[in-house]
Amino acid sequence: MSYPPGEFALIARLTARLSQSRRVVLGPGDDCAVVAAPRAPQLVTIDSMVEGVHFEVGWASPEEIGARALTVNLSDIAAMGGLPTVCVVNLAIRAGLSARFFDRLYAGLGAAARAAGVDIVGGNVTRGTALAITIAQMGEVRGAPMRRDAAWPGDEIFVTGTLGDAAMGWRVLAGKLRARGAARKFVIDRWRNPIARLAAGQRLARIRPVPAAIDISDGLWQDLGHLLERSAVGARIEAPALPLSAAYRQIAGDDATLALSGGEDYELLFCLRPGASARALSRRLGVAVARIGVITRGAGAHLIGGAAPRHGGWDQLRGPG
Ligand SMILES: [Mg+2]
Repeated sequence: MSYPPGEFALIARLTARLSQSRRVVLGPGDDCAVVAAPRAPQLVTIDSMVEGVHFEVGWASPEEIGARALTVNLSDIAAMGGLPTVCVVNLAIRAGLSARFFDRLYAGLGAAARAAGVDIVGGNVTRGTALAITIAQMGEVRGAPMRRDAAWPGDEIFVTGTLGDAAMGWRVLAGKLRARGAARKFVIDRWRNPIARLAAGQRLARIRPVPAAIDISDGLWQDLGHLLERSAVGARIEAPALPLSAAYRQIAGDDATLALSGGEDYELLFCLRPGASARALSRRLGVAVARIGVITRGAGAHLIGGAAPRHGGWDQLRGPG
């Protein structure tokens, strides 16, 4: 068992290949990075991916692990309708992972950052008992951000993409669920390579009034619950309207448990004044959109045509739902 090269050598190695855009006045290598003054209100968010809690090293390539760590942060920026700008990375490394492993992890992280227009402007390396990647991500929002507290009774509730695939992939990788063939491959890929709905979020934020929105990271039921609580409203969700992929149906049939409470979808849930068509929205946002229910007076979510989950979803302190 060996550690990669010393801290400073590793940081130098990992940051050497990062390119920087014009917003970066001073990149990695000093006590702080210096970033040009922002043109718009700033978004700040942070998220961690911890080995043994969220993933195991063998479940994805090092490149995928790096890209995924960024994507889960980008999803929070997408949920506000924002544009991601710069981030800093904290790596906790453990014995037994090679320098090559971290080169590859950073290659994946760097490629994902470039694709999203993000500058990695700094970082820190620490020794730990498990691999952990923590990213603090900044963004900006031109105009008003999409908030969780802006839903009104009568609003219709929509989600992007399909739900439950990643949770299924997580369970297949963890040996808790059996699946075969193309369906197995599809759900595992949905866990390994989530997509932050950045473009869709930015387009949604241009709608007036600005929609209430949240990204689905901990499961639809739980994240919807957060939005309802912040908006002091309730919701009626139609189970048959939940968007399930063909792979999901092949593995679980009509059982919507994981679509409701599985977590790690990184799709957007948003609320619009009545009358928008899901088909027109799909065209406008560039991603499949499904109407799943309606905001009501009162509190809490009610599921029509199915059994509501017994408990919410992914709980960081308890594990998956
Ligand atoms: Mg979120």
